[in-house]
Amino acid sequence: LSPPPKKSPIGKLPDGSFSPYAGADKFFQLPLSKRTKDGLADKKFSSMTDIQRASLPHSLCGRDILGAAKTGSGKTLAFVIPVLEKLYRARWGPEDGIGCIIMSPTRELADQLFEVLTSVGRHHGFSAGLLIGGRKDVDTEKERVIKLNILVCTPGRLLQHMDETPNFQCPDLQILVLDEADRMLDVGFKKEVNAILSQLPRQKQTLLFSATQTKSVQHLARLNLKDPEYLSVHEES
Ligand code: ADP
Ligand code: MG
Repeated sequence: LSPPPKKSPIGKLPDGSFSPYAGADKFFQLPLSKRTKDGLADKKFSSMTDIQRASLPHSLCGRDILGAAKTGSGKTLAFVIPVLEKLYRARWGPEDGIGCIIMSPTRELADQLFEVLTSVGRHHGFSAGLLIGGRKDVDTEKERVIKLNILVCTPGRLLQHMDETPNFQCPDLQILVLDEADRMLDVGFKKEVNAILSQLPRQKQTLLFSATQTKSVQHLARLNLKDPEYLSVHEES
């Protein structure tokens, strides 16, 4: 006899019920758009990692998340997938402007996650831009940035746009991601991050991912997440 399937408490929803997707191990078992499923299949992603399995049933229901899992555990897809699904379900289009902001502490990390976003998201029609300091002329960027759907940025460059770019507003922002939040705070971006958060609309979904659960990450989460699901995934086996 094989052991019964694990019913993880991780899939419990706020009303006490379990998400029907809580026991899912494979991406195709999740309620994803065909476009996202095709993007995952193109890249040969099939089984979820622990942090993906733990967080996606919640994040796909629109909940705020604080997810902590070590480097290399697959946190990027744990936020790229809900970002794509959120905008897809909102029927976000070219005229709708900025629907998602993803913040990352360094240019290199922003670059890497941008690559994952654009490859897994290639069957969707969203426009995405990489806003990182020193990359290219900020003035040319200013004209284009407000027309993009998804911004991947470092805090410094994003704040520069918020301060200097005419009509840089995102009143309908659907979803905000803070990636590598511990590092973002460590490298001294605390002031920038707080300034950015104070200018964004309150009504939105927020996903906060971190390699470690530091005090400052928990503080950031306490101030900025609504009834979040706290997920800390440690290595098993
Ligand atoms: P983290 O942000 O937690 O450090 P990444 O998102 O960068 O981790 O992922 C680490 C590596 O694992 C990447 O090479 C990525 O392609 C791979 N990976 C992520 N999710 C999966 C998955 N479900 N199946 C196979 N490989 C995966
Ligand atoms: Mg990462």
